[in-house]
Amino acid sequence: MTTETYKTHSPEETEAVGRKFAEKLLSEGAVRALIALYGDLGVGKTAFVRGFSSALGIRAVKSPTYTVVNEYGNGLRPVFHFDLYRITDEDDLYSVGFDDYLAKEAFCLVEWSENAGDALPDDCIRVTIRKTDDKDGREITVFSPERNNT
Ligand code: ADP
Ligand code: MG
Repeated sequence: MTTETYKTHSPEETEAVGRKFAEKLLSEGAVRALIALYGDLGVGKTAFVRGFSSALGIRAVKSPTYTVVNEYGNGLRPVFHFDLYRITDEDDLYSVGFDDYLAKEAFCLVEWSENAGDALPDDCIRVTIRKTDDKDGREITVFSPERNNT
């Protein structure tokens, strides 16, 4: 397992952290990944996903706050981008088909993973973003368990 910490001072820098992380997964030959994002509203989770997706050639990533999941099939890997902000119980999660998405050969990124309860496997990648005292400062921690990419 590895834990990496980054400090950023703009949305562009947070996007760059996401983009570099996706490039690393691609260089390792990953065909699937589950990335659980944690952090308060407005901390930069969607910015991270936007940068991550850009490495796959996916543009115009928007928050799936109202749709729960946005699907992007036009990149190097399929991307499923979730926002579980409005999910309050397991029934909600089930009606979204969450488990079915996680079973696909794709990159899944999940905002508000706090609301997924037990539905996230222990071996997912966890990205936690916090505000720091600096202006526009963010601290991004990426925790990767050992995993099998294929
Ligand atoms: P979330 O998805 O966590 O709610 P968003 O990515 O939608 O957050 O929004 C982050 C907001 O914070 C944007 O308005 C962005 O301009 C601002 N921001 C300021 N500094 C940063 C930073 N270092 N990283 C990411 N976003 C930042
Ligand atoms: Mg968001």
